[in-house]
Amino acid sequence: MTSASATFDHDVVVVGGGPAGTAAAGYLAKHGHSVLVIESESFPRFHIGESLLPLGEYVFDELGCRDKVHAAGFHKKRGAQLRSLCGEHRVVFDFKENKIQPDETVQVHRAEFDKLMLDHAVSLGAKVATARARSYERDADGVTVTFGARDEAAQQVRARVLIDASGRTGFVAKTEGVRRPDEVLQKASVYAHFKNVKRDEGERHGDTRIVTLPNLGWVWWIPLTADLTSVGVVLDIDVYKQKDKGDLEAIFSEAIASAPLAAELLADAERTSDFRAESGFSYSTERYCGDRWFLAGDAGSFLDPVWSTGVQMALQGGLESAQAAIAGYLSPSPDAQKALERYERTQRRRYEFVRPFVTGFYEPAMRDLLFNPRPYFGIHRAVTKVLAGGFDLGLLDRLRLKMFFWLVRMQKRFELVPRMAENHEAEVVEA
Ligand SMILES: Cc1cc2nc3c(=O)[nH]c(=O)nc-3n(C[C@H](O)[C@H](O)[C@H](O)COP(=O)(O)OP(=O)(O)OC[C@H]3O[C@@H](n4cnc5c(N)ncnc54)[C@H](O)[C@@H]3O)c2cc1C
Repeated sequence: MTSASATFDHDVVVVGGGPAGTAAAGYLAKHGHSVLVIESESFPRFHIGESLLPLGEYVFDELGCRDKVHAAGFHKKRGAQLRSLCGEHRVVFDFKENKIQPDETVQVHRAEFDKLMLDHAVSLGAKVATARARSYERDADGVTVTFGARDEAAQQVRARVLIDASGRTGFVAKTEGVRRPDEVLQKASVYAHFKNVKRDEGERHGDTRIVTLPNLGWVWWIPLTADLTSVGVVLDIDVYKQKDKGDLEAIFSEAIASAPLAAELLADAERTSDFRAESGFSYSTERYCGDRWFLAGDAGSFLDPVWSTGVQMALQGGLESAQAAIAGYLSPSPDAQKALERYERTQRRRYEFVRPFVTGFYEPAMRDLLFNPRPYFGIHRAVTKVLAGGFDLGLLDRLRLKMFFWLVRMQKRFELVPRMAENHEAEVVEA
């Protein structure tokens, strides 16, 4: 255990108070290290990313906040569903049926969830400055970060380690020049909150529903409370660019109208928020860390929202960046090289493991197979585990997933399962 000495204001500065930043700060504070979170926004503030995954809950256990999260009144999530354009196909990825532990998690208003997590980190001893981190300088011993609230004089803080958890802003990632655009996952999204959206009853009430759209687009339905639902359409960025981006309602309504099931689910709905849009949100990084800096969560890389992996990866990355900072720089016998190598390996392996599930979702053959699960070899169960956040699976499940991707390749050549016309429409359009 170390505490900041006279030459250091803090052991660690964390930029960003979202899931990655609060997981990092909470863990460091819990283990006796002094940590300052610099967050530019006053919480609570809106953020997208509302559907969580159950296997990420061990991070709550590490931080000691699982009870708080589950007592906060968030809607329970017990699975996810894939629904076809006209509603005739429905595939359920049920956590309990597939023996996933824990078998449920929550759908969250991020404004409330992020505030809960930040307050929890503070309760463990983290300090928070509401200000924007503007620049930093690294030297052999530490990092000096310049930050300031809007219209206020800049201040400086000195720490041994800097964790970038600034999300897509990429405070360190962009300064170090390591961010790389994703040339394949070029998507855009328009979304809002609605009341009176048609829901499933009983156990399936809290499921995230994904409804497919023509041209390999899709819509998410995330129940946030008994009556409030987050609904967002995801389109190819080229399709989005051809639209009038000043009229988000028109883009959203046109996409919903193209899927009879989506139109039916929204038939009696009343919008309760403005429309918002995001585009070009997927990217990777050349490196996740360097001497005295770590990228955690979206600050490092982000994969498309389709499987709701973002918050879990941010929580895991935040926790692991804190562990790496301790092992590399703060412990009594620090080993920076080993800690950096391990952190790099863990983040990259996870990103590369999840990516084929995401890119595959935009391929007709994989959608055909997802919509036609067969009860053989435990493949559906292994896929459900991944969709529950199982990113570090055992050998048997990895073999099952290899078989799944082999079947996807075969489906491209032979019709192993019925080809769903809506998935292949994209190919027809391009032809
Ligand atoms: C359309 C869309 C839908 C999504 N849906 C889901 C979903 O259903 N489930 C899911 O798990 N994920 C989803 N995600 C992903 C999710 O939003 C992110 O992965 C998650 O929020 C990442 O957390 P983070 O802590 O890394 O970054 P963020 O949550 O973005 O937090 C970063 C924080 O840093 C602060 N900050 C930025 N720059 C500075 C600075 N210079 N100084 C100080 N503070 C700064 C910001 O104010 C912010 O609070 C979605 C993403 C998109 C684009």
